[in-house]
Amino acid sequence: MFRKILIANRGEIACRVIATARRLGIATVAVYSEADAGARHTRLADEAWPIGPAPARESYLSIPKIIDVARRSGAEAIHPGYGFLSENATFAEACAEAGIVFIGPPPAAIRAMGSKAESKALMERSGVPLVPGYHGEAQDPALLADAAARIGFPVLIKASAGGGGKGMRVVDTPDDFAAALEGARREALASFGDDRVLIEKYLTRPRHIEIQVFADGHGNTVSLFERDCSIQRRHQKVLEEAPAPGMDPARRQVMGEAAVAAARAVGYVGAGTVEFIAEGDAFYFMEMNTRLQVEHPVTEMVTGLDLVEWQFRVAAGEPLPLPPERLAIRGHAIEARVYAEDPGRDFLPSTGRLTHLRQPRETPGEVRVDTGVRQGDAITPHYDPMIAKLIVWGADRPAALRRLAAALAEYEVVGVETNLGLLRAIAAHPAFGAAELDTGFIARHGAQLLPDAQPSSPDESVVLSAAALAAVREQDAAIQAAARASGDPWSPWAAVDAWRMNGDGYQDLHFRRGDGTTVALRTHPLPDGGFRVDLPAGPVTARLDDDADGLLLTMDGVSRRLSVTRRGDAIAVIIAGRNHALTQVDPLAPPRVEAAGGDRVTAPIPARVTRILVAPGDSVPKNAPLLVIEAMKMELTLRAPMEGTIARVLHAVGEMVEEGTELVTFAAAAD
Ligand code: ADP
Repeated sequence: MFRKILIANRGEIACRVIATARRLGIATVAVYSEADAGARHTRLADEAWPIGPAPARESYLSIPKIIDVARRSGAEAIHPGYGFLSENATFAEACAEAGIVFIGPPPAAIRAMGSKAESKALMERSGVPLVPGYHGEAQDPALLADAAARIGFPVLIKASAGGGGKGMRVVDTPDDFAAALEGARREALASFGDDRVLIEKYLTRPRHIEIQVFADGHGNTVSLFERDCSIQRRHQKVLEEAPAPGMDPARRQVMGEAAVAAARAVGYVGAGTVEFIAEGDAFYFMEMNTRLQVEHPVTEMVTGLDLVEWQFRVAAGEPLPLPPERLAIRGHAIEARVYAEDPGRDFLPSTGRLTHLRQPRETPGEVRVDTGVRQGDAITPHYDPMIAKLIVWGADRPAALRRLAAALAEYEVVGVETNLGLLRAIAAHPAFGAAELDTGFIARHGAQLLPDAQPSSPDESVVLSAAALAAVREQDAAIQAAARASGDPWSPWAAVDAWRMNGDGYQDLHFRRGDGTTVALRTHPLPDGGFRVDLPAGPVTARLDDDADGLLLTMDGVSRRLSVTRRGDAIAVIIAGRNHALTQVDPLAPPRVEAAGGDRVTAPIPARVTRILVAPGDSVPKNAPLLVIEAMKMELTLRAPMEGTIARVLHAVGEMVEEGTELVTFAAAAD
């Protein structure tokens, strides 16, 4: 076994790999970009080495820099995690040349599976079933359009070198084909430096079922069973589970054998995943990922194995730790990916600092949180916006689902938008409970899953009382601190529980709700340390206590766990994982001039301008596409907020723009 390894990755997967290494007594070397200085993975590792600027190209994707750190730190092996260099055959070869073990498959296997098109051709020859489609070398647009017509619409265009849903377009009619092809190619070129595509029949209600395989260097290849990853948005996984609901042993065996055949066909060694798309009883090969998957923990939870340990052992030349007859599934596991993104705005990534972060309590074998961030860390535009993975286990699917719902209610994030509301809504949805899974689930049930459609907040009185008492408490703390600083402990300012400047000690507080309305309330201290709070709905008695588990609000005798966070005037009261935002306002302050809105088009996140579709003087209808920006390797089209005439286009193609930067202005309406 290795004595020291380097992890060529960041975030939760780097932390995940370090955890197993530590358990096995293997020393760890982390690498980090300038954006990740002090990040969680750098603190968990025994050593952390800088590898350059924030853009991945100049750091996490730099083969020479990473090999250099491995050499200088004396690491014997490199674990690539997922993403970045994990499926880069050149990197695997560079490791070998430097005498360092690449913890992954042989370069030839990576190459063979690296192109979706070539791997399909190979699988076809090995007798693995494929979705009807075109995966040839010729890429002439007219020829591709012909192929699409032959396959029959709807079709799916995929980047041959693809991954992460980039360069993928569903096309419903022949008329849309040319534009979709152009978009897919542009995205593919930007993401993978390769604009070749393939075309497939688009299945309308498929399930995504994948098989975890493992092979050693001694000729053993096994299936570690399936995962169902059908709950997706933008063709990307959001919830994954194992086993796949409804999978019977016969089918599991057939799919497992197909996956093992696929792995054997390329001389596979290590952890890999063979992805299938399934409709009815049929299943078709989609691709093989030649690395550890994001969702590997659900397999670990139901098999009781540590797949990273298996990777280390196999890479060190050992045989697979267990023979197939010792492998079995126990219970049910579900993973939810917690993303910094806004489901209400088409899952737009959300960047910013995690000003408050409280994760569900972990219990071994039942609730697991894999994360790369801590409170105070930032989600930057440079990398994937995943905050964490929450993985739960139960004796059966309903038990796992209950645990999922309970853990999601413990999740507290302030500072970025998250998909927690969406995850909670899915976990609570009867169709999910009934395991009616297919890749269209989120789109089909969208209206019921988005934040606006979710059951309204708890009693507003609870939210207001918590906000008011937290504000009073903070003010008292500030006064006490001031009294201590003044050196006069007898100052009346230091008496926080009885004397108040306002006669009986009442205080008036004003809050603005999310919808812009304001509410006034008054707090009166009571002798027992509690308060009477005059709320719009009438007076209540309330108190706020702190204990090891956090805050406890007791209102008219009923106590509830909650959290309150504050940044400037912005207050978030978090109840059962749900944020209720309020702004404390000073009624005496001059009214704020609202920023001119409506006629401005601004960048919703830090991004690069990739295309400009209008010029000054153009008149455009409302919702006309104006320009395309790219952020987090995703294209985003910005549309006209109103009908009008373009006055100025303020940035050129290729420019980086910050969040909130004005991009296009409209001429003032002539009136
Ligand atoms: P990527 O590697 O970019 O993630 P995949 O080929 O793995 O792309 O496909 C991602 C997802 O897209 C699948 O999980 C599935 O939901 C959907 N998908 C892929 N191929 C098809 C198809 N032929 N018909 C319908 N949906 C598909």
